[in-house]
Amino acid sequence: MPTNPYAWLQKSLATIHQADWYRSVKTIHGLPGATVDLEGQEVINFASNDYLGLAGDERLIAAAVAAIQEYGTGSTGSRLLSGHRELHRELERAIAALKQTEDAIVFSSGYLANLGAIASLVGKRDLILSDQYNHSSLKNGAILSGATVIEYPHCDVTQLTNLLIQQRQNYRRCLILTDSVFSMDGDLCPLPTILDLADEFSCMLLVDEAHATGVMGETGAGCVEYFGCTGRELIQIGTLSKALGSLGGYVAGSATLIDFLRNRTPSWIYTTGLSPADTAAALAALKIVQQEPQRRTQLWNNVNYLKQLLKQELPNLKLLPSQSPILCFQLSTATAALQAGQQLKDAGIFAPAIRPPTVPTSRMRISLMATHQAAHIDKLVGVLRDL
Ligand SMILES: *Cc1c(COP(=O)(O)O)cnc(C)c1O
Repeated sequence: MPTNPYAWLQKSLATIHQADWYRSVKTIHGLPGATVDLEGQEVINFASNDYLGLAGDERLIAAAVAAIQEYGTGSTGSRLLSGHRELHRELERAIAALKQTEDAIVFSSGYLANLGAIASLVGKRDLILSDQYNHSSLKNGAILSGATVIEYPHCDVTQLTNLLIQQRQNYRRCLILTDSVFSMDGDLCPLPTILDLADEFSCMLLVDEAHATGVMGETGAGCVEYFGCTGRELIQIGTLSKALGSLGGYVAGSATLIDFLRNRTPSWIYTTGLSPADTAAALAALKIVQQEPQRRTQLWNNVNYLKQLLKQELPNLKLLPSQSPILCFQLSTATAALQAGQQLKDAGIFAPAIRPPTVPTSRMRISLMATHQAAHIDKLVGVLRDL
């Protein structure tokens, strides 16, 4: 009797359950915002990447609706065939203007931008050096490229230097990969040092600004701006789906780089162009990022307020080092993290438990928004104190 070739799925799920690693979706009703309706319960939302509170903004909604009325719902094909609209170029120019790069190219998601760009830039004869805590899309892009991948310890420039000294000469091209804001920790990569190393050892550097765009830097251009590295040659990747409240991803850099990607990147060439609605919403968001710096000010006021309150009220909380609106505190086990998440939810606070395999150690993750009010933050700290 042949065994059922799908039987392993059930066993694998059982193992996931046993480890308390099981995940499932939770339904949010209505518009996104600082408070949301989570499965019928009004909760304060500390689980969102919508840092500037733009995903429910009426101007983005109006722009998306207008674009649908003018251009329809789908872009109907690859950008290189029937799917290219003037709106796409406007968005790409706006991203390049914010980043002060020569050009930019938009993808259907940040994940696809990373997969495609990395796999187009390096191959079998090349080396990738990648921060241990990088986002899944960077790690999988590295695997897809076929290059030799070596992970360096998180933000450890000494180890990175040693690897470059030992390994660089054995390979044709070298690409260093790093998140700028680490999405599950909230700390920043030491960008200026990594850029100097990239120059010294003749490496390309790709930095993922997913959580930094709209948030970090004087004009919201990201960590490249925050660290004073604007104008230096590197490859910037990001998403339209976090602070920009839409959907899609981008690469920004030199005109040559972008032209190359348009010709060589399968995850851009063989996929349908960004929808008119998503494109128009992102374009509206970029204008707001530039015209309303007070949103960023408010976001950072909230970050500082929460940090100060935690220090005062909960000095023993194991906060991970953070220089972003993402604040995490460590818990001993996945079970403890799940319990804390449930207790917070019961008290009207929505903050996710992040568990392996997403991160090496379980933690609660809190992300702040510009639209949180002091009372929301007070409530969070009150509930944490009672845990
Ligand atoms: C969210 C995220 C992505 C993926 O972006 P999407 O547009 O959601 O696919 C890539 N990199 C990092 C660091 C992220 O946090």
